[in-house]
This record gives sequence, structure tokens and C-alpha cells, in this order.
Amino acid sequence: MIRAFVALSLPEPVLDALATLQQGMPAPRVVPVENLHLTLAFLGEVDETALEEAHHAFQHIAAPGFDLRLSGLGMFGGARPRALYAGVVESAPLRHLQGKVETAARNAGIAIDARRFVPHVTLARLNAARLDKPRMAHFMAGRMGFSSHAMTVTDFRLLRSHLGPSGASYEELARYPLQ
Ligand code: ATP
Ligand code: MG
Repeated sequence: MIRAFVALSLPEPVLDALATLQQGMPAPRVVPVENLHLTLAFLGEVDETALEEAHHAFQHIAAPGFDLRLSGLGMFGGARPRALYAGVVESAPLRHLQGKVETAARNAGIAIDARRFVPHVTLARLNAARLDKPRMAHFMAGRMGFSSHAMTVTDFRLLRSHLGPSGASYEELARYPLQ
């Protein structure tokens, strides 16, 4: 089985800004800069045939390129925070592309999480039990105004995830240009 997901990669200036934002983050596991990405769809553990089929469907997606900007910070997990992320300025073309990717994956027989898509870039993993809440609140309050440069999205990518003891490493399997 292959653990795979579809994501947007981020240009160098945005990665630099995110790396700066990560400095001093009171989190046990900060995402290494080479792993930062915006997930469009998590495919999960899929067999090679299903992945081939999804790849074929992704190749036929016709969607326009667009500009995107990251903004603000947020946490996933509610009362038990598990991730800290950079937000994304609302974007109709992003939602359009994400919807097409999700539909293409489903048509290839891949079960995609039905939860509403919340565009984000995960910056760190948190441990709710060990979270220093006041310190985190202070950290976030000082950086809520974060805004990246606008980036132009010209393609989306199929990535394989290799989980290891020192975290995940991603392998690019394919790149799909936008129009
Ligand atoms: P680790 O799991 O070691 O923290 P990771 O989360 O970066 O590393 P994966 O678990 O393979 O690596 O996930 C790859 C991408 O898919 C990440 O963006 C992750 O947030 C996202 N993802 C993983 N599981 C799910 C899921 N169940 N639903 C939605 N997105 C997911
Ligand atoms: Mg994970």
C-alpha cells in the first residue's frame, strides 16, 4: 500500500516567511520547512491500482491557476489542540480545484474524508497534555497578523508519504499543471 496525498507546494519566499513564523514556537514537533505544504486531499493508504487510476483522473483535471495568500494562525483539535497552522485567505479557485481533486479521487474508488475542507498549512504538531497554554496564547497573539506574500499556484502535486521514527518524508510522484 502507498500512503499518498495531493497538495500544493509553497514557493521559497512563503517558505522563508513560515520558517520565520515557526521560530520560538512552543511546540514539541515543528514541521521541517521542506515538509510544509497545503493539502488538498488525503488519499490515505491506497493500492497501486487505485493510485494509478487517481493519477489518471488528476491528469484530466482542467482548472485555472490562481493567486493565494496565507494569513493568520489557527489551531486544530478544539479543547485538545493537536496542530498549529497558518490560515489561507478565502479563495474560490482554491475551493474549485480542491473539489475537483476530491471528486477525481472518489471516482477512482478512494474514500476521502467527508469533513469540510479547511485550507491550511500545518506548522507544528502539539501535545495537548503538555501544552503550555498561556505561552501558546502569547505566541499566537503576537503573530495573528501574519500574512504571506501572494503566491501564484501553477500546479498541484501527488505526494507519497513515508512515515518514519523521525517524522514523515514526502516523495513527489507527479505534478499536474493548471491552465
Ligand atoms: P506525521 O503523521 O508523522 O505527523 P504527516 O502528518 O506530515 O506526518 P501524513 O500523516 O502522511 O504525514 O500526512 C500527509 C498529509 O496529509 C499531511 O498534510 C496531513 O496533515 C494530511 N493528513 C493525514 N491524515 C489525514 C486525515 N485523516 N485527514 C485529512 N488529512 C490528513
Ligand atoms: Mg499525519
